[in-house]
Amino acid sequence: MLAAADWKAQTATVGRPCLQCLGQYDPGLVQTEREGRLDDPSYIEGLPKDHPLRARENVFGFSMSCASMQFLQMLALTLAPLGQPNPGAQLYHFVGNITEEPAYGKCHSECQFPQITALGDSCGIEATGVRNKTEGTHSEDEGTAETLV
Ligand SMILES: [Zn+2]
Repeated sequence: MLAAADWKAQTATVGRPCLQCLGQYDPGLVQTEREGRLDDPSYIEGLPKDHPLRARENVFGFSMSCASMQFLQMLALTLAPLGQPNPGAQLYHFVGNITEEPAYGKCHSECQFPQITALGDSCGIEATGVRNKTEGTHSEDEGTAETLV
C-alpha cells in the first residue's frame, strides 16, 4: 500500500542552500558510492531488510514528475520570468495531491560549502578521491599513443 510519495525540486547555487543542507542526500552514502559498494550485490544483500537502499521501489512515474519540476527550476533560473528567477524549493505530496508553499532559505551556520564556493580545486576537498599519481602523466600518454600506432 502506498502511504506517501513526496518529491522536491530546488536550485542549489550561490545565495541558496546547498543540497546537503536541504537534506537531499546522505553524506555517508557519498563515501559508500565512492568506494563502489552500491555496485556490489553482496554489500546490498548484507544491509538490513528495512534499509532504504533495499527498498526496490518503482518510482518511475514519480521521477518523471520530479524531472519536470527540475526542468522548470532551470527555466526559471535562466529566463527569470517577470524578474523572478527563484521559485524556491518546490515540495509535492502525491498522496493528497498537495503542493507546499515554496520554501526559501540558506545553508546551516555550520555548513562548509558557502566558504568554499568558487574555489574549485583550491577548496581543499578531494571531491572524487585521490588521483592515481601515474594517471594522466606524460609517459602514460606516450604509452597510449604507442598502443594505438
Ligand atoms: Zn549547506
